[in-house]
Amino acid sequence: MTVNRPDTGRTSSGPEPYEYVIVGGGVHGTCLANYLLAEGGHAQREICLVDLREQLLASFATRARQCGMRTLRSTYVHHIDTEPFSLESFAEGAHREAELVSTENYPNRPTLELFVDHARNVINRRDIGECHFQSKVTGVTRSETGDRLDVQTDSGTLEARRVVLAVGLGSPRTVPAWGRSLPDDAPLAHVWDDDFSPATAAEFAGPTFVVGGGITAAQPACSLSEHTDVTLLSRHDLDIELTEADPYWINWRHVEQEIHTLPSGSKARLDRIRAARNDGTIPPYVERRLDEARDCRDLEVRRGEITSTAATDDGLFVRFDDGTTAANAQVVLATGVGPVPEHPLVEAVAESLSLERGADGFPVLDDRTLAWRRTDGSRSAVSVSGALAEPSVGPFARNIVGARRVAERLLASRTEAASESASSALKGRS
Ligand SMILES: Cc1cc2nc3c(=O)[nH]c(=O)nc-3n(C[C@H](O)[C@H](O)[C@H](O)COP(=O)(O)OP(=O)(O)OC[C@H]3O[C@@H](n4cnc5c(N)ncnc54)[C@H](O)[C@@H]3O)c2cc1C
Repeated sequence: MTVNRPDTGRTSSGPEPYEYVIVGGGVHGTCLANYLLAEGGHAQREICLVDLREQLLASFATRARQCGMRTLRSTYVHHIDTEPFSLESFAEGAHREAELVSTENYPNRPTLELFVDHARNVINRRDIGECHFQSKVTGVTRSETGDRLDVQTDSGTLEARRVVLAVGLGSPRTVPAWGRSLPDDAPLAHVWDDDFSPATAAEFAGPTFVVGGGITAAQPACSLSEHTDVTLLSRHDLDIELTEADPYWINWRHVEQEIHTLPSGSKARLDRIRAARNDGTIPPYVERRLDEARDCRDLEVRRGEITSTAATDDGLFVRFDDGTTAANAQVVLATGVGPVPEHPLVEAVAESLSLERGADGFPVLDDRTLAWRRTDGSRSAVSVSGALAEPSVGPFARNIVGARRVAERLLASRTEAASESASSALKGRS
């Protein structure tokens, strides 16, 4: 079954394939769709934004709320719109300037609610919802004619000229060995599990251990400590950094000098990027929140690890690496996500279209156009955005600003392809 125009109530424009099928309607997919509509001159009917969730951006908003995030770590110029000051103007128009929170030695940062409301405003203003097709993409193959891509979804096949994978950060379910054989109903959760509820966790009668040493552990530890007895358990001393990487990594020129000069697909690129990223750190304003919670004796910060757990009728019996134990406990993991190159769709697409993968399985992209290279070195019609694009976009690839960087290259490559085909047509005539 070919679903050229999915039956979702959206405008139909005949049998033409989509110009772009974007897989993933999170921050990246939605931002890319916005750029293609606003600056690429595309109509909604030319773009299909496939996401299994009912609402665009739901994955980000849910995860952020689940981990007790109040404000973004990035500044007010980082959002899904094309104009840098769009979010600031939105805040002023809605008399919500107070939600642009001042930060020492850094521009203001929006509250989570302001960021999400602004994004919804952009989605409505540009009718991006019309591009949304709620389904799960299971594979991408070459069409029978060879000039298009067939995108397989749970609801049929979509035809596209180009496909962008914007599937997010990777699977959240990275459970340490000591938690893998616990029964399903044991009080062990990952802060980004779809069914993790901070409200339910806050009602737990026994002690709560939040495992992790970065911002995604510190924020829920603070929030939960308003309701229950919490220990933040980190393997290392807490590291304080304001941003995810030095802001000069936002600029293409710096990324080109530091990353693109290293061989494509190399481990050296990943090492450089990992050294530049401040992963597992917390910003100073979250450190202050932790200190306040500690002062009120609601929260303990402890250095150590869990070595074993056992389920009991009243919770978990937990043993720590210093030999101490805790009974009747619940454990909330904030231990990051699995590697995004292991996303099943990434594996499937690489295999079916013979696309090249480099160190740690990352796609090998053409740095200039961000097209995923085939194993024969040619450029395919598949691109990637988000964490998957890190080896070409650099340490901020997964962040909001990374989506803007990808959009710029996608739009530029489209213009380049159009002028290449115009000049070959002229040559053909002469
Ligand atoms: C709690 C939190 C706070 C953050 N704060 C900041 C911040 O302040 N500033 C900043 O710049 N960055 C921040 N980030 C990093 C980054 O901006 C976010 O992770 C952002 O959500 C990444 O966008 P994304 O589109 O890559 O992934 P997501 O927003 O997770 O979207 C991926 C989408 O792909 C869909 N998908 C996956 N597979 C398929 C499939 N096979 N078929 C169809 N759909 C599929 C998913 O349903 C999902 O909706 C934060 C991240 C988190 C988790």
